[in-house]
Amino acid sequence: MLIEEQISARQQRGPTAIGKILAKPDGRAYGDYEVRPASGKKYHVAMRGPGLFENFCSCPDFAVNTLGTCKPIEALLIRLRKRFGRPTLDR
Ligand SMILES: [Zn+2]
Repeated sequence: MLIEEQISARQQRGPTAIGKILAKPDGRAYGDYEVRPASGKKYHVAMRGPGLFENFCSCPDFAVNTLGTCKPIEALLIRLRKRFGRPTLDR
């Protein structure tokens, strides 16, 4: 599968991938998050920027997919864009 397809698959399934946000930075978009997807496992997500390979996630997919992103990261980016606006995030 093309890398673009692999990433867009993660973007489409992303919204269900974070479930509850257990911890987030105060009033800022970027920082450390803890999320708990429906699967019940907690992941630590370090959000640093809008691009690939800028962020880190502790989920098993991120560890092996070599894409520099994963479902929880993509889902958080979507939520952050809604909350903070794309210009703020992408700057
Ligand atoms: Zn992940």
